[in-house]
Amino acid sequence: MKIFIVIPCYNEEEVLPKTLEVLGNLIKNIKVKTDADTELLLVDDGSRDRTWQMISDAAKQHHYVHGIKLSHNRGHQNALWAGMETAVDHCDAMVSIDADLQDDENVIIDMVQQVQEGKDIIYGVRKERKTDTFFKRFTALAFYKLMQSVDKDTVQNHADFRMMTNRTLKALMQYPERNLFLRAIVRQLGFREGFVYYDRKAREAGESKYPFTKMLSFSIDGITSFSVAPLKFITFLGLAMTLVAFIMIIFALVEHFQGKTIQGWTSLLVSMWFIGGIITTGVGITGIYIGKIYTEVKRRPRYFIEERV
Ligand code: UDP
Ligand code: MG
Repeated sequence: MKIFIVIPCYNEEEVLPKTLEVLGNLIKNIKVKTDADTELLLVDDGSRDRTWQMISDAAKQHHYVHGIKLSHNRGHQNALWAGMETAVDHCDAMVSIDADLQDDENVIIDMVQQVQEGKDIIYGVRKERKTDTFFKRFTALAFYKLMQSVDKDTVQNHADFRMMTNRTLKALMQYPERNLFLRAIVRQLGFREGFVYYDRKAREAGESKYPFTKMLSFSIDGITSFSVAPLKFITFLGLAMTLVAFIMIIFALVEHFQGKTIQGWTSLLVSMWFIGGIITTGVGITGIYIGKIYTEVKRRPRYFIEERV
């Protein structure tokens, strides 16, 4: 069995030497324990540091290291896609893992064994997040809860650390959408699923490439790609508001004919702001979906490969 480990890298010069060393050892271990041949495919997502230099050096040194360099920074999900699209022609199964080794690479052996037993997609699930900040843990929990309420199939605490067999990769490649939220799309594929559990570690080196703003935009992407629930919610809210408005009109008229209009000033002002807020939110949510339609309709390529080693 031939396995590819796909690793998206964006400005990871600080951690790459360590990553290559750890994964190099892991490859030997996988061979001993499962008899599978493993190779690495590093995807340089348009890094501006020495990441590509390091990848090409490693590829010259080790026969099991391969690299592709994207022409521009396209984001984690697109980089992963580029790696999977390249790997699909060369392997029986693929594992995706982050360059910073926050996910426990040793469970890959368990993943391989499960695939050998006939499973197709093995999800890596985080047990503990001790090393993450309180803020990251809290926002992640809130996100997974929200995501599960719009898409009940979401695997809690599973990010993009998973193993997929060749046939499930081919199935995934048939999804044409540009708004990628892989962890949820993969779940829709079906096939035979397996899970491995591990503790999430601290980043080996370098800093997170996912600041809060990127995380927020990623979450909004995830939810809006998988559900129109926010649109429905806003519609119901709008209907409820209209009902309230009717009562307000009657109330205002009665007040008017009793000659006490000036008193209505407070309620008017309050409701004006309230309704204004709701409308703006509604327009915003609708806008997000329209924005998605816009990017999908353009059908722009996800990435370009500038170089291969
Ligand atoms: N990454 C990428 N392109 C980007 C941002 C991140 O390929 O535009 C990669 C990054 O190199 C790492 C993985 O995606 O391998 C996850 O990023 P990071 O560890 O910074 O995210 P966090 O674990 O903090 O959520
Ligand atoms: Mg990380």
